[in-house]
Amino acid sequence: SDIAQSPTQNETAGPYIILKTLGSGAFSHVKLAVHARDGIRVAIKMLEKPTISSSASAAATTNMLSEQARNEASLLDSLNHPNIVRLLNTFETETHSCLVLEYVPNSDLYELITNHPQSLTPQFVRRIFRELCSAVGYLHARNIAHRDLKIENILVDSEAGVKLTDFGLAQQFDPAIPLTTRCGSEEYAAPELIQALPYDGRKIDVWALGIILFTLLTNEMPFTHRPGERPRRMFHRIARGDYHFPETVPGKRAISDQARDLVKKMLTTNPQKRISIEAVLKHPYLTGETVEKGHPP
Ligand code: ADP
Ligand code: MG
Repeated sequence: SDIAQSPTQNETAGPYIILKTLGSGAFSHVKLAVHARDGIRVAIKMLEKPTISSSASAAATTNMLSEQARNEASLLDSLNHPNIVRLLNTFETETHSCLVLEYVPNSDLYELITNHPQSLTPQFVRRIFRELCSAVGYLHARNIAHRDLKIENILVDSEAGVKLTDFGLAQQFDPAIPLTTRCGSEEYAAPELIQALPYDGRKIDVWALGIILFTLLTNEMPFTHRPGERPRRMFHRIARGDYHFPETVPGKRAISDQARDLVKKMLTTNPQKRISIEAVLKHPYLTGETVEKGHPP
């Protein structure tokens, strides 16, 4: 292999040899790496450590970042679910806090939808979504909100199925006390987040799941910035719950009434009336064995 041929040229991190970049975000890079001795492949999420600075604001940012890495690691460490990515280890380098995660081959849902939309058959979509909701149900039962549910953060292994990842914004909460920190991506943000109201972390997760199900069914986002329009137009549509299923989706069968009904219940603007994850898991779209519209019996 490449490793055997050029051992000195490989970048390392702790006991691992870095092979390539799997993805990157604002404050992190995720690398495919292999343990130098046992040869086991892992994904290492490397979170930049703050650089020393005399400025007070830089120091504040600094503490927040390392605390974020700690929060992500300790939350992940407390979880044990087949559809949530496993934390194997953590270590620090001079420049980074590193989370060693089980490596999920294949890709995230963003990649799948963008590059292999034909693989998202109604049966596969239902399976993916059921597994994703199972993971989120597990979190909510433990009073943990993920707060960054989106297709980039859902890894899909063709055999093992869904592995939910990126607990960078996840938060354990007291159900009696609403959360106030604004977070997540705009296109997935629930109306109460857009309106800067205190919120129930579970309900914003359910809204984001509604966005994800719509996207899996149609290969497009229900709310998105349209070219040339002011950014606030999209926020108005979100606040009104103003979304529409396309008439037809190229290469796809008609969307079932059950799927539409579930999306509607998840994309309910009033968080008090929005469906809970427990009820989502009991919805006929996920429990029913009925064939999708367009399939011959
Ligand atoms: P960020 O907080 O920067 O968004 P993520 O944890 O979401 O970081 O990881 C960024 C990307 O790296 C993901 O969207 C995914 O494509 C890839 N990735 C993350 N974890 C893994 C993993 N365990 N196995 C394979 N790919 C991963
Ligand atoms: Mg991410």
